[in-house]
Amino acid sequence: MERWQKLLQKSLTSAEEVAEVFGLDAKEVSQVANRFRIRINPYYLGLIKAKGDPLYRQVVPDIRELEDPCGMLDPLAEDQDSPLPGLVHRYPDRVLFLVSHECASYCRFCTRKRLVGDCDKMNPSSIDQGLDYIRRHSEIRDVIVSGGDPLLLTDARLDAILKGLRAIPHVEIIRIGTRVPCFLPQRVTRRLVRILKHYHPLFMNVHFNHPDEITPESRRALNLLANAGIPLGSQTVLLKGVNDDPAVMKRLMQKLLACRVRPYYIFQSDMIAGTAHLRTRVEKGLKIVKELRGWTSGLAVPHFVIDCPGGGGKVPLLPEYVESISDREVVMRNYEGRRFTYRQVPREKTEPVTRRAPLAEKPPLEPDAAPEVLAPVSRIV
Ligand SMILES: *Cc1c(COP(=O)(O)O)cnc(C)c1O
Repeated sequence: MERWQKLLQKSLTSAEEVAEVFGLDAKEVSQVANRFRIRINPYYLGLIKAKGDPLYRQVVPDIRELEDPCGMLDPLAEDQDSPLPGLVHRYPDRVLFLVSHECASYCRFCTRKRLVGDCDKMNPSSIDQGLDYIRRHSEIRDVIVSGGDPLLLTDARLDAILKGLRAIPHVEIIRIGTRVPCFLPQRVTRRLVRILKHYHPLFMNVHFNHPDEITPESRRALNLLANAGIPLGSQTVLLKGVNDDPAVMKRLMQKLLACRVRPYYIFQSDMIAGTAHLRTRVEKGLKIVKELRGWTSGLAVPHFVIDCPGGGGKVPLLPEYVESISDREVVMRNYEGRRFTYRQVPREKTEPVTRRAPLAEKPPLEPDAAPEVLAPVSRIV
């Protein structure tokens, strides 16, 4: 057995153990455990400094998980866009391919709480069916391998899946979505990286939510991956009491970038049942992005997105930088709040004389809006 597998075996998984380690009410913890699976591996446990700290809040069950009236089990309506179990085909040219039902620790705010830990929902036969679906759909040029955590599969299983995908001529890129470099960096072995390297162009999106998760171990893992030529991106979930603070988020983004991870998305928390105590208001995310853009490297500024409840996909949100766009000029404010004007070139004769700006292909949101003034760009882009 490899070292990472031994670590995983020593995880806290039962309500009794968790209650004892953290001095919690065993009955309450077991009520939560009956609904949502628990796993805290010894590596991540070792990073928790105090009860209620930002790392603790991500993995230790809380009785409030049973309380959230607005929460849903499948808020992104993934099941509705699943032609078969373990595959979500929502966008025209890419699919989400769920190949593992396990994670190195379980996030209390997990979007797929309904699936993780359930072997029936993602198993070897559903993986073969998924490969088959991708083979039959030549419009799919990008496959996001996720789960659960795909890096919890054995090297041999993962190798077989990647090999299957690479054998499909229309699959141009493969992406792996994983929290392993954060939760269990020991899993990133030289052998694993040698396997991944065979399947380029292969991208990886890692998931970190707090600067304290960037440790010497996780740096080593990210370094191995980057050295294998794998472009690394990050996804971060905005969480109350974890990273809902511009200074914390800025530090996280800068630290990721220093590990050659390009911040990709900050997600507004999905409306998952039992996560109201971890969700922030949307304005918080906008404030955070505003305090990143211009104030630190543009490379450290990800897109802030909401994954639409009901299955609409990801929508980017931007603070309002554009005050107006008219036929002649664009008036905008920079990161410091100072106002600037950009003069437009005259319209070409062949361009239809419409008084709406070119970005608005769809009817304006408010039909009564003054024709010369566009809705702020952030609502359209
Ligand atoms: C997020 C997501 C993708 C990938 O979206 P990108 O914006 O291309 O990263 C694809 N499919 C589903 C169902 C998703 O949720």
